[in-house]
Amino acid sequence: MPGSFEKVYKMGNPAYTDQEYTQIGDIAMKEETYPFIARPLPYEYDALIPVLDQETLSFHHDKHYKTYVDNLNNALADYPELQGMSLRELLININSLPAEIRTAVRNNGGGVYNHELYFDSMKSPMGQEPSGILAEAIDRDFGSYKQWKEQMKQAAVGKFGSGWAWLVTDKKGNLSIVQTANQDVPDLEELTPLLLVDVWEHAYYLQYQNRRADYVEGWFDLINWRKAGKRYEEVCAVPV
Ligand code: MN
Repeated sequence: MPGSFEKVYKMGNPAYTDQEYTQIGDIAMKEETYPFIARPLPYEYDALIPVLDQETLSFHHDKHYKTYVDNLNNALADYPELQGMSLRELLININSLPAEIRTAVRNNGGGVYNHELYFDSMKSPMGQEPSGILAEAIDRDFGSYKQWKEQMKQAAVGKFGSGWAWLVTDKKGNLSIVQTANQDVPDLEELTPLLLVDVWEHAYYLQYQNRRADYVEGWFDLINWRKAGKRYEEVCAVPV
């Protein structure tokens, strides 16, 4: 229920556990509609130190992400017929939207979707690795966790300009790594994102300057594998 999500997030209740945030977040990703609300981080601003310092994370969340939310709402403000669509629906149907707002929704709607998933896919660095059926699928499709990490790093560091590197699954549970430019999303009808890394300079420049590879190397320690695993299990639970 979007209503209850909104209430909880506006309260910013620190008593909410990681597990409850996941459930609330997943509902929100699927169901929230205009006006979109900038969601607080599911952890404190200093939770990702030393990989991401407080200044880097707060600028990224409070300024960059918030701007995408505001600009998406501005784009949809005069289009009541689109205001009942979820973010996912807007992005899947991007080519059917009115031409005059298509670019704004693509850039800012993608910006909201990508950042919500990015922030929700990290946790305090504690050396977590994948487990369960996602770990088995990584071994099957990439050879090993170590080999997956190499390929993911290559995709992230090698992305020319601004964009994202993603781990996604198709409906049958086959994993792949994809890159997108700017704030574009993968084909959300066919693929479900499990996790992603932001390689726009704004994600790391305050702390790392031009050292994108160091940021990406650190990011691996922030991955919330429990949440990625839960997303994967949900896809695998649906018969195809
Ligand atoms: Mn960003």
